[in-house]
Amino acid sequence: MPRYSITTFGCQMNVHDSERMHDVLRCAGYTEAGSADEADVLVLNTCSVREKAEQKLRSEVGRLARWKRERADRVLVVAGCVAQQEGERLLKQMRAIDVVVGPDNIPELPGLLGDLAIGGLPIARTVFDLDAPRFLVASPPSSSSSPRGAPTAFVTVMKGCDERCSFCIVPHTRGPERYRPSDEIVAEIAALVAAGTREVTLLGQTVNSYRDPLGALPRAPGASADDPDESEFAALLRRVAADVPGLARLRYTSPHPRHLTPSLVLAHAELPVLPRHVHMPVQSGSDRVLRRMIRRYTRAEYVARTRGLVEAVPGLTLSTDIIVGFPGETEDDFAATLSLVREVGFKGLFGFKYSRRPHTPALKLADDVPEGVKGERLARLFEESEALLTAHLSALVGTTQEVLVEGRDKERGHGGAGGALWSGRTGRHEIAHIDGAGELDLLGEVVEVSITRANKHSLQAELTEAARAAARPRQRGGLEARPARRSLPVVAAEGG
Ligand code: SAM
Repeated sequence: MPRYSITTFGCQMNVHDSERMHDVLRCAGYTEAGSADEADVLVLNTCSVREKAEQKLRSEVGRLARWKRERADRVLVVAGCVAQQEGERLLKQMRAIDVVVGPDNIPELPGLLGDLAIGGLPIARTVFDLDAPRFLVASPPSSSSSPRGAPTAFVTVMKGCDERCSFCIVPHTRGPERYRPSDEIVAEIAALVAAGTREVTLLGQTVNSYRDPLGALPRAPGASADDPDESEFAALLRRVAADVPGLARLRYTSPHPRHLTPSLVLAHAELPVLPRHVHMPVQSGSDRVLRRMIRRYTRAEYVARTRGLVEAVPGLTLSTDIIVGFPGETEDDFAATLSLVREVGFKGLFGFKYSRRPHTPALKLADDVPEGVKGERLARLFEESEALLTAHLSALVGTTQEVLVEGRDKERGHGGAGGALWSGRTGRHEIAHIDGAGELDLLGEVVEVSITRANKHSLQAELTEAARAAARPRQRGGLEARPARRSLPVVAAEGG
């Protein structure tokens, strides 16, 4: 049986696409190789949101040319956003590549590999499924080693993007917005929960612009008929909460501030399944820059909408994405961004230096902020956000929190005497490492912990007496029998 290996660059959408490629390849009779060296087929699932990510792909392909030369039957596949962006050009530019496959063409991958195996030429398949959008459902869990029993899972609700943010290549690489019927979404979540999943993250490029393509959702309470930013996302959240009562947490990423409407705020206030954390990309705190970015909201609108959310859900925290050094960004514009970070009090932040991307409207603007200035602004931004995070985490020491245990801690030596150290996330998405519970099986449990210490980016915790008394003892081999999310080799997780 041919063996494959997948390397993932980029955001959660790409991690999710890689999981679907695993399913498609396994169904077609491929088995996963222990490493790239053992693989017959190597897939690079790529990101093109920033130039650096694209450059990483090019240097990786250069490095893999030797891997290919070692055996004539080895196959190199490039998938994801760079595949979609470049198509056939990649085959001409880099002779080591055999197959280029776009995100909408993942189901065709086994067929393309089959054609190649019987002497076909290198091929690029990058066609959007506009007429009949496909949303690949994960294969049902078949054994105790299935990754679907993982405590957390992603479920796609829409793909593509109709926004035209001037910096962003996504509309070009992922096409226009297409939505998945809510019946299918609910059925997939119900199947995941039945298999042991506790937390689902709904995925979409502008996830909160969701509308049911079959018109199957009722109007959500608080939804205004004349608000152009209104969508059916709040109604979708309500339906999932009602139809899948076993779900412990329902997250979503990534939303657009335009669709943070009163109906969504009300859903947060009323649905306990929605955790007290939202990632809401703002990009800049300067109205002048927001206008040039074509974000379609002002700073004041962003502040008012997020403030409404925090007032409706006491203790809710916000994180965000910010681009520094956008064309024409002055020191005053950047100061406005820093002041917004302080005003909103973000508890997490992905910061990026602006990067010119092909096919984007901002190409017409001069990339006039020097690289050194971009770097220096990014450092100041991180300094500001680290200070906010440190103060936030320190204030949690001594409190009791509920943690969904996602797996064993990767940071070895950090924890309890010789036993496993568990880690997970609080309802507000803070990472918590649980000490002294190595003898217990906590995977997938929502446990009560006392916070004992604040680390730089995470919390140290201990089970409360009640949680310890209720926990299951660890079976010999039990940890391996119920794995956390498949450990995909994510080379570059750059946020978003
Ligand atoms: N849906 C998200 C939004 O509301 O904008 C976009 C997700 S994007 C894949 C992840 C992040 O990458 C963006 O939020 C933005 O901060 C950053 N990004 C996108 N294009 C960029 C560019 N040309 N240069 C630098 N950062 C960029």
